[in-house]
Amino acid sequence: MAEYDSNNIFARILRGEIPNRTVLETDHALAFHDIGPKAPVHVLVIPRGAYVDFADFTRKAGPAEAADFWGAVQSVIDNLGITDSGYRLIANSGADGMQEVPHFHVHILAGQRLGPLLAF
Ligand code: 5GP
Repeated sequence: MAEYDSNNIFARILRGEIPNRTVLETDHALAFHDIGPKAPVHVLVIPRGAYVDFADFTRKAGPAEAADFWGAVQSVIDNLGITDSGYRLIANSGADGMQEVPHFHVHILAGQRLGPLLAF
């Protein structure tokens, strides 16, 4: 796994160097609208801590931090009112996962039928 790059775009958003359209803030997480939405609803949830990807977060985040993060994901889903209509969670990781930003994040996609899981 690559070392954490503290100049990645989400690190800069967390430091307030780049604006974002915030949806929710918690002690350990920030949720904001994706700049290039792939669905009518496209929100990203990121931990405030410096984790490269899912494995990095899962191995290193403490229990309170992990609970706060996953709670934030659920709160965003609740606040968006998409539970009944449905949604998709995605966490891209590494080269084959085509992760663009090397700071762990979960995509929340909703607002229409999202089509097949994968398209090559
Ligand atoms: P990944 O491919 O790493 O899973 O997804 C990265 C996501 O970050 C993409 O959906 C992309 O549109 C989004 N993104 C990249 N730069 C910015 C930015 O500066 N602001 C916001 N809000 N989203 C960004």
